[in-house]
Amino acid sequence: MIAAAPAAAAPREVPADWSGLRATVKDCQACKLCATRTQTVFGVGSETSPLMVVGEGPGADEDAQGEPFVGRAGKLLDEMLKAIGRSRKQAAPEQAVFIANVVKCRPPGNRDPEADEVEACRPYLDRQIELVKPKLIVALGRVAAQRLLATDAPLSRLRGPLHRYGPTQTPVFVTYHPAYLLRSPREKAKSWEDLKRIHRHLAEPA
Ligand code: URA
Ligand code: SF4
Repeated sequence: MIAAAPAAAAPREVPADWSGLRATVKDCQACKLCATRTQTVFGVGSETSPLMVVGEGPGADEDAQGEPFVGRAGKLLDEMLKAIGRSRKQAAPEQAVFIANVVKCRPPGNRDPEADEVEACRPYLDRQIELVKPKLIVALGRVAAQRLLATDAPLSRLRGPLHRYGPTQTPVFVTYHPAYLLRSPREKAKSWEDLKRIHRHLAEPA
């Protein structure tokens, strides 16, 4: 018998509804990050928010609490969101946000997620975006920007113009990661410019 060509990795079943997706992510073992996590960090906020914010991956605090952006960087993110009238605790569209990460499990020692991990986790973030149907996605930092825009361009080139994500051509803005802003407070002025642009875009008629 002629040997078949090596099969591509079987496409994983990714539920098309929130509760199925949550359950699948909770028990996921599709990449090596499952071995070192305390728990998965699915995402938080309004499932119908016009604004979706995408970070890189859970850190120690998020891994412990099971919620994205709850450590120092998260406090700053909450302040940034508050400045544009938004909060993870609000459901009304004008005040809502949904926050998720490129990978749902903590990379050990807070290293960047590796390419195979980003790939393994890809269907979950894609599905989250499909379900939320945001008017605008904000990518926080290089890892999220490169993943959403399928590019290896540096952040300096990605920040600024309006990009588009995926088959829906959802608008994407790229801005600094709050952890970077904590290390480089001088960039906060530019981050503020980005926030104002984000706010304006969300206020425009669809
Ligand atoms: N940094 C991220 O990118 N995501 C989190 O959830 C926390 C810190
Ligand atoms: Fe699964 Fe994503 Fe966690 Fe990897 S990072 S184990 S793909 S949920």
